[in-house]
Amino acid sequence: VAVEAMIASLIPRDGRLLVLENGAYGERMADIAGLHGIPVRRVAAAWGEPVPLSRVREALATGEPVTHVAVVQHETSTGRLNPVEELAGLCRERGAELLVDAVSSFGAEELALDAWGIGACAGTAGKCLHAIPGLCFALVRRSALDATCSPPRSLYLDLARHHREQDASSTAFTPAVQAFHALAEALREHAEQGGWRARHRRYAELAERIARDLAALGVEPYLAAGDSSVVLRSYRLPPGMGYERLHDELKKRGFVIYAGQGELRRSLFRISTLGEISDADVERLSGALREILQGQGRAGT
Ligand SMILES: *Cc1c(COP(=O)(O)O)cnc(C)c1O
Repeated sequence: VAVEAMIASLIPRDGRLLVLENGAYGERMADIAGLHGIPVRRVAAAWGEPVPLSRVREALATGEPVTHVAVVQHETSTGRLNPVEELAGLCRERGAELLVDAVSSFGAEELALDAWGIGACAGTAGKCLHAIPGLCFALVRRSALDATCSPPRSLYLDLARHHREQDASSTAFTPAVQAFHALAEALREHAEQGGWRARHRRYAELAERIARDLAALGVEPYLAAGDSSVVLRSYRLPPGMGYERLHDELKKRGFVIYAGQGELRRSLFRISTLGEISDADVERLSGALREILQGQGRAGT
């Protein structure tokens, strides 16, 4: 919802958007723009592949000029982390405002809104911030608020309206108060625990441990660790192991994993380490994976 609010509100009537697409959420941003009648151009790579910045540079230099560029920081459908800092530099050179879907990275990956000159980002309480689902937000540079879409494309999703009310210490609509209390507490914990850097380190440690244990079982990562977020990693399903079976066997043991999305559904599985996950949880997960994956060769026993 925050991503849709950002796109619907911050691109003026005569604006034009360029979207980087290399997964489900990039495609969703382009779809959102299309539904709101915003002229949109796409620079697409296959899911999981990087979008070369040279192609973005070329797209910004040719064709219909764009006012805004949109990117997903962590493409949750594959685990790939897109290079927001470099892209922000390109946008600055071209005078385009950068809009970032940081929904699955906010709080655990670096996102320097000011230093990188980002126009706005969308985030959620429920993922890396460890609050509860039900609340999302957009952080918007004041200059990006000066040129919001007028008249608005949406009543509920109009960030200019939310901002006016916020400045008057009010809310535009009935807020989910319980979710705000949970977020305030979660933000205190996030800061006390050392902010995004500490959370990044913790997630990275858990993800590395799982990757090592899976490697020992012959399971390959889909992306190199340096290309992946610390929030979620994708792995190739080992030969002879269908996703449904792996999922069901893990579910029986108290773990929920995710399938690949779209065309990657049959070849990948994804493991996220976000949330309050203990060393003992990861220990138990490794034991379960050993049981399921080592057991599969022992037919008849
Ligand atoms: C979770 C997520 C969203 C929000 O998706 P919902 O279907 O609204 O939960 C948006 N972008 C990314 C990158 C996400 O991971």
